[in-house]
Amino acid sequence: MKNNVIEKVVSAILSALPEGKKFYSLHEPSFEGNEWKYVKECLDTGWVSSVGKFVDEFEKKLAEFTGAKIAVAAVNGTSALQICLKLIGVSNGDEVLTSALTFVATSNAISYCGGIPHFVDSDFSTLGICTKKLRGYLKDITEIKNNECINKITGNRIKAIVPMHVFGHPVDMDPLIEIADEFHIVVVEDAAESLGSYYKGRHTGTIGKIAALSFNGNKTITTGGGGAIITNDIELGKLAKHLTTTAKVAHKWEYFHDMCGYNFRLPNICAALGCAQLEQLPAFLDNKRKLAEKYRKAFEGVPEVSFFTEPSYGKSNYWLNTIVLKEDFISLRDELLEKTNSMGIQTRPAWCLNSSLPMYQNCPKMILSTAEILEKSLINIPSSQNLFQKL
Ligand SMILES: *Cc1c(COP(=O)(O)O)cnc(C)c1O
Repeated sequence: MKNNVIEKVVSAILSALPEGKKFYSLHEPSFEGNEWKYVKECLDTGWVSSVGKFVDEFEKKLAEFTGAKIAVAAVNGTSALQICLKLIGVSNGDEVLTSALTFVATSNAISYCGGIPHFVDSDFSTLGICTKKLRGYLKDITEIKNNECINKITGNRIKAIVPMHVFGHPVDMDPLIEIADEFHIVVVEDAAESLGSYYKGRHTGTIGKIAALSFNGNKTITTGGGGAIITNDIELGKLAKHLTTTAKVAHKWEYFHDMCGYNFRLPNICAALGCAQLEQLPAFLDNKRKLAEKYRKAFEGVPEVSFFTEPSYGKSNYWLNTIVLKEDFISLRDELLEKTNSMGIQTRPAWCLNSSLPMYQNCPKMILSTAEILEKSLINIPSSQNLFQKL
């Protein structure tokens, strides 16, 4: 009976994938466009480093694609998020609300600013922050003093909330923004996984005050390593550019810096890759949707698990396809991971809850009952865009 379920899951996965590959990776990059041409241009002209036309073009194209008023490229998604939090004023001892179920970079970026992650529970239907639990929780543990939200238990200020769009599925942003406004908390989106995902027609990352994107090698598009800050607040965006460089005041020869800049610039040679990748993004997204649809159909015949589909209010980029083991079958997770990985089908569980990692185990948190179940029941399955295209 147990083996039967594992066999069914394996054959559902394989039925959605092209035949005859020895290894199906979880998410690998595709370079099928102008990547060689643009990178060669960097090498030929010598413009490989921190300034160059591809950086400017990449930022412009990113703003166009997402509909954000301004985009600033950065060296990776983690540093982009760090700068977002710094810019909206997170500083020593401030608490920042975020899901316990997220990649560790979210919590790390909060820490780099001197902030303390404060973990909140997830929602079964979105995998993101549960807004229904959030409001009651904040009512119980906070008070508003001088337009600031104070945690009555710790005495710290709660400065920001970081919704993370898990595996590309958009968080329910309207109630989240409403709660944030009510409690004087700034919304910073971790949109690292959600390039090409939309909430009620708006690109993720353009709904809160400011957001971070990632172009790591395993993301929907890649610049090798890279990230970006997007915002509709042009002044904040300009400050982001200033801080991610060396905060040099523009002048022909003078080296005068008016802030402690971070030098988190994306090299031109990486931006060249990014420009080529962005040209292919619509096709990548289309392929990823089609692959997800194949999986959805294949898993209709496996009642022991469900294939996670986008929330009805939004559109997911299906960055990582996800199956959810139903309660009675959670115990099969490790065996299933073992079996698939041994067959060359790369699968992995969701992240360990950040609240249980050594450096964050003493951080404030609400009861994380849903996140704890999700942690045990989610499995990511192969999701590269070329797994559809190559059929
Ligand atoms: C990928 C990712 C980041 C940023 O990652 P980098 O590797 O620094 O680009 C941040 N948050 C989440 C949730 C991510 O998945």
